Amino acid sequence: MMMKISTLFASTLRDVPADAEVVSHQLLLRAGYIRRITSGVYSYLPLMWRTLQKISTIVREEMNRANAQELLMPILQPRELWESSGRWSVYGDELMRLKDRHQRDFCLAPTGEEVITQLAQIEVKSYRQLPLNLYQVSNKYRDERRPRFGLLRGREFIMKDAYSFHANQACLDREYEVMAEAYTAIFNRCGVKTKMVASDSGAIGGAVSHEFMMLTGYQAEAQQSGENDVVHCETSGYAANSEKAVSIPQPQAVDGADTFSQYNATTNVETPYTDTIEKLCKKLKCSAEVICKTLLYVKDETDFIAVLMRGDYDVEETKLKNALGALTLRMATEEELTRLYETKKGFVGYYEALCSGETVDLTSVKGKDGTPVSLLVDKTVVSMKNFVIANMEAHVHWVNANWAGNCCQAEGITVADVRTVKAGDLCVESNQPLSITRGIEVGNIFQLGTKYSESMQATYTAEDGTEQPFVMGCYGIGVSRVAASAVERYHDANGIIWPTAIAPYQVIIVPANVKDETQWALANQLYAELKTVLGDEVLLDDRDERAGVKFKDADLMGFPLRITVGKLAGEGKVEAKLRASKDLIILDASDVATQAKTLLAQWDALSWEPPVTP
Ligand code: ATP
Ligand code: MG
Repeated sequence: MMMKISTLFASTLRDVPADAEVVSHQLLLRAGYIRRITSGVYSYLPLMWRTLQKISTIVREEMNRANAQELLMPILQPRELWESSGRWSVYGDELMRLKDRHQRDFCLAPTGEEVITQLAQIEVKSYRQLPLNLYQVSNKYRDERRPRFGLLRGREFIMKDAYSFHANQACLDREYEVMAEAYTAIFNRCGVKTKMVASDSGAIGGAVSHEFMMLTGYQAEAQQSGENDVVHCETSGYAANSEKAVSIPQPQAVDGADTFSQYNATTNVETPYTDTIEKLCKKLKCSAEVICKTLLYVKDETDFIAVLMRGDYDVEETKLKNALGALTLRMATEEELTRLYETKKGFVGYYEALCSGETVDLTSVKGKDGTPVSLLVDKTVVSMKNFVIANMEAHVHWVNANWAGNCCQAEGITVADVRTVKAGDLCVESNQPLSITRGIEVGNIFQLGTKYSESMQATYTAEDGTEQPFVMGCYGIGVSRVAASAVERYHDANGIIWPTAIAPYQVIIVPANVKDETQWALANQLYAELKTVLGDEVLLDDRDERAGVKFKDADLMGFPLRITVGKLAGEGKVEAKLRASKDLIILDASDVATQAKTLLAQWDALSWEPPVTP
């Protein structure tokens, strides 16, 4: 069958839909790849589906090569299964829940640990059946708080999820390496350059985990689509998600003695209306680093935590969540602030308790209304000297303050690194400056350990005859997110520029004028010839449109190679153009079949740099 554009189920749009914020969302809509059904839910039209299948095929080939076995598990899953792992209650609002006609609870799979662990529990009896790696490619459902960016963050999306089972940690460690290599191969083959970065394991559990990030930071317009900050060091190779990253702060230690030399002792200074660090700096003519700020958080909707942080740094909430062992965390509201402290925003601070030398029992710090508040001090705060701190008194700060004795280490105070790394901080491995780049997470690998096998009592008989819980790993790839990420990376003002391996069609043949018999005949002949060398990868633009219109659509849809059959057709010549290049190449028609592969091979997505937009 001939694949002609006139019959292709795809129509291009001239206008950018208003709700499409990022480039991949805009281009996939405009080029006729996806259509929205409702928030975060899309139909994949034929061009999109071809690309998604190509990505899935690459994923399958590399997973199979790594000895993983494909299966397919149900999306509709009963509540009881999720209760057996404890996740029915902890997964939260992201779990899509529904009831059947008997009012029994179900959910739509956001991921598959429960089903696979139950399967292993039933099917795997002995250590002889281990190790085992099972995977599937299927729809996943998450009621994301903010579904947005088209396929980048949908509520229904395609994920490859794999789960491995082992008799011991050493075996899991080996599989983890194998998966890391398979992932690198998968993303490279897709033409999507990724960085493997250390990540926070979050609610999924386990200690070791890494994410594969496609870095977007080099393109201003693509910055917002990268929802993660990747902290990395060129010298040491250190790379971590900012939710996990650590660094040496700059400056490492702070002493405000010089800044505040006009105050010979600890002094309270009137600082009216300094409700931000910026205003306070201006008022006191100091830099932010000599200020100790205090932020009030609420853990699991019950406990209040006051976090002391150096003024030039932000609190990294994931790090704070982990330090507190919190399931949920949020900043206190203004209303809660006034209830606890009877002061104004900007003037929350524990000068009296921590700096005045008064004896205060720090294990029983309370708000004015009697609510207990625990204190958490960021590591950088401990060594601060002659700094600025508030004392719950509106419009006043204390200057040249110092910690009373070892109060930061006193009982009742937690010291932890809960600081967001800043660009320019130093790498803990190399002591060189760190960079921060935005990135899109396209996949991740986790060492789950025995989290699920223990809660679900999934065991096997070990060599010594004892029953042991499986040691597990899990490995995810966002197939539909990979496609959208590729568009974020590979596009220009005219449209998508697909890496060849995941383009829906590799070549489009465009007869400039379909009414010209010579052109039409040659285009059809080339179509047949190209099909013999490239297979089902050729598309013919058979529409009776101006050449310019057809070029525009071909550019928008992003096919890697365009063969134009125009005025030179009579001389047996055609024009070839790679989507990624400006050059037009005149070819003898008889050479097209042999040259097409060579030309496509010249388009190396991994080394391509996007055109700089002014
Ligand atoms: P994120 O931090 O982006 O929400 P996640 O940590 O929740 O991702 P996992 O649960 O580990 O992601 O899922 C595995 C992979 O599935 C991710 O690496 C990502 O590529 C993809 N993915 C996750 N959520 C979505 C979504 N809402 N839409 C599309 N792809 C997604
Ligand atoms: Mg998520």
